[in-house]
Amino acid sequence: MNFPDSRFLQICALLAGVAAPVVSLATAKAPPVAPATPEAVALEPVSSPAPGADPKGLIAVEGLTAESAAIHERKWCEELSDAIKRIGWKLDPCQRVRWQVGGFSVKGRPLMYAEFGAADAENTTLVISGVHGDELTPQYVGLKLVDWLLDHREELKSTRVVVAPLVNPDGFLTARRTRVNANGVDVNRNFGTKDWQEKALSSWKRRYRSDPRRFPGSQAGSEPETLFQERLVQAVRPQKILSIHSPLNFLDYDGPTALSLAKFPKEYVQECLRLRARLKAVSGGFYPGSLGNFAGRELGIPTLTLELPSADPRAAERYWKSFSQGIRVMIEFSMPKFSVRPLEPAPVPRSVGNTPAPAPGAPASG
Ligand SMILES: [Zn+2]
Repeated sequence: MNFPDSRFLQICALLAGVAAPVVSLATAKAPPVAPATPEAVALEPVSSPAPGADPKGLIAVEGLTAESAAIHERKWCEELSDAIKRIGWKLDPCQRVRWQVGGFSVKGRPLMYAEFGAADAENTTLVISGVHGDELTPQYVGLKLVDWLLDHREELKSTRVVVAPLVNPDGFLTARRTRVNANGVDVNRNFGTKDWQEKALSSWKRRYRSDPRRFPGSQAGSEPETLFQERLVQAVRPQKILSIHSPLNFLDYDGPTALSLAKFPKEYVQECLRLRARLKAVSGGFYPGSLGNFAGRELGIPTLTLELPSADPRAAERYWKSFSQGIRVMIEFSMPKFSVRPLEPAPVPRSVGNTPAPAPGAPASG
């Protein structure tokens, strides 16, 4: 397959910059998001949770026990491994990783994340992929990054990375994959941004002619997959966020700019812009209810959206090779201390018990 255009090569070259040195920073703990104080757990590469392990991760899930968490993890791993095999990728997402449950999808699949590096490192990056279930390459890059993080633990002692590689499992783990979740909602248009009420539905109708693939939901924050991302931002308090999508072929920056000096300290804005320059990201538009709008514009956390050049799963390994160095630069880039404004705590997700997730071939209702 040819690369779609010369811009891809340009982005590859730009992203493949020289890695920045790892900078050790002072300790910062993720704040609790629920009455029970969740502890940041430095994950060791184990194949399954130890019996009786504390099920509390960064996100407290009401009703979740160590036993039910282990069952959810095992089923999620089986379903994901089957999907990966059918695609033909050589990846084992679970052999070395301890995944944590951070909520449940519309169809009751667990929403998983894992934490790597030093739990107390201030230099924290949140990486999100699999937001749109029919975009396959981001899925691969997200999971491959997990492998890479495990292989480079020694070098990443002063950084912390939290990865949620499959934000929309119902859209991905079905025979007919969908961009939207099982409620037919684009979970990257469903964040409770300030402009949502006024603009989300009108912009969807006007700009996208009511394209069902981009439906923002009938109200902000209505979807568990969106709330999961909000909770992650709240619990992880990342210095920067990488969200991986396809196939638009660019690297987009949402975050503080020269226009936000009234809102954020000047030195902080300068560092955000240095990160943007380092990655040669562009500042495109933003949408009501998108992660970039929510975390980048409103909370001031530099949010980079890597749009891979295609969703073709056969290109996935090539994209990983092209972009991994840029991702490493981003992970190692340390931002000055800046406290994001406290968020309204989202309601604690409920455990859905141990009922088996729908079979991989179950049709998507989106
Ligand atoms: Zn996408």
